[in-house]
This record gives sequence, structure tokens and C-alpha cells, in this order.
Amino acid sequence: MSWRDNNKHLRILRDAEENGYGVIAAIAYNLEQILGFVKAAEQAQSPFIIQFFPWAITFSDGLIVRAAADAVSRAKVPISIHLDHCQSPDLVKLAADMGTFDSIMVDMSHYEKEENISRTRELVAYCNERNVATEAEPGRIDGGEDGVADLGELQSVFTTAEEIEDFVATGVDALAPCFGNAHGEYGPQGPNLDFERLDAIRTASNARVRLVLHGTNGFEPDLMKKCIAAGVSKINVNRVVLDNYNSHLKKNAPHLPQTTLMEQGVQEVIKQTVEWMEICGSAGRAKALAKQPLQNGV
Ligand SMILES: [Zn+2]
Repeated sequence: MSWRDNNKHLRILRDAEENGYGVIAAIAYNLEQILGFVKAAEQAQSPFIIQFFPWAITFSDGLIVRAAADAVSRAKVPISIHLDHCQSPDLVKLAADMGTFDSIMVDMSHYEKEENISRTRELVAYCNERNVATEAEPGRIDGGEDGVADLGELQSVFTTAEEIEDFVATGVDALAPCFGNAHGEYGPQGPNLDFERLDAIRTASNARVRLVLHGTNGFEPDLMKKCIAAGVSKINVNRVVLDNYNSHLKKNAPHLPQTTLMEQGVQEVIKQTVEWMEICGSAGRAKALAKQPLQNGV
């Protein structure tokens, strides 16, 4: 049996792909959000992915990530921990050595294609030796979010179906294609996604890698469902599950005691996250997933 059979992140994504639903992979910045995500997953009986930007490691010397690992180890549903957009090879290695990540996004998309592929291949091997799954970005997704910088002068590059083979050959487990999706805000015109391209990418990947949707700020439920129907199984989210939490802080921080502010903040995270689990079809899927044979706990 390969380590991949037991890797929690890969088990979660395989089940999602096989059963045609999407798993929310939400960025956490603090303890209330970690708590809110775990409680939401338990309430909805849903598998889940908590993810961090590399900022969480450098800012807190890994404390926030270790807190999430502790919360996840006590959770009653399968939740994996993923590092999103790790653009520094040294930090990829440090994160893989931490032992807390089930999966790491080896994001070398700021290099041109050949260098992206060769660096991805090397870092995938490093992660895999430590039983850590990997995600990579063929092409280049534009924009930035709080915790991951915009790539400045670098333009977005749409992923092509032809390059999928080269990325699959690196041994990577998941790919984040660029098909019109972008980080940050889409502006008044909203997202304009190229579903023909996504379909060609799905055909080329031929179920050998999972497909990941990035750049979902401001997405409506119907668009999210359309992306899942088109084959993405990991749904990266940021603001769609944190908007209400952030509004709550802005509105209530001046007058609420800290403890009440935090407790109510957790409730805001739970409510908005459960809604998206229902939209993406992962609600109620935890039990069947947890029942599958496994060697090292849930
Ligand atoms: Zn992203």
C-alpha cells in the first residue's frame, strides 16, 4: 500500500471526485476561523480542508498551523491541512519537514513553463518522501489575496491542455488551472470563465490528478456548482466564508468584550461555511468517507 492511499488530503479529494462533489478548502488566518471551520465541518458532517498561506508559518513560527493540526486531530470528521501558494522552495521544504501538512502547493508559476516544471518535479519528490501530497499551477493565475502577493509585472497565463501531460509527469497530485479565474476581486463585470478550456484540461488530465479551483471571491452558488460539474473537486475559498466574520469584527469590535466578539465570530464562520458545504455537495459525506479502510486513524 502506498502512502498515497493513507494520505488524508488525497482520500478526501478522491472521494469528492468519484462522487461528483466539491470540498471547500478555506484559508484560515486565526484561531476563531480554525475553530469555526472544524465546527462547521462537524455540524454539516462534511469533509473539509483547512489551508494556510505561507504567511501563517512565518508570522507565527508555525503556531497557527500546529493549532489547526491539534484541532483537526480531535475532529469527528476528516479534515486535512494544506499549504496554499508556497512560492519559495526553501519554505516548501521547511513546511514538508514540519509534519503538520497533508499537502503543499508547490507554486512555481512565477517561473516560465520549463523552469516551473523542473522545480515542481524536484519539490514534489521532496514532499512525497515525507508522505506529503502536492498541488501545482500550470500557467499563471493573476492577482493577489491577503497573505499571498500579486506577482506584479507578470501577466496571467492560461493553462493549455497540451501542457497537462508534462505536469502530470512531475508526480504532482493536484493541478490548479488558469481558465479565466483570478485571485482578489473580479470587479463589476464578475468572473468570465473559459469552460471549454477547463473541459479540455479535464480530458487531458484523465483522472490522474485532481483539479483545483482558485480565485472564488464573489462567486455565486450557481457558478460554483457549474465548476464542480466541470470536474474541479478542491474549491479554494477565502472571502466567501469569511465576509460575515469580517463584517462582524468591523461592526462589533468597538463595543463588545473580547470574549463575546470571538465567540460570535466563530458562529459567523460556522454559518457561512456550512452554507457553502451544502452548495458544493460535501455536506453529509463525512461518514461514508471515514468508513473506508485506513491504517492511521481518520
Ligand atoms: Zn490561489
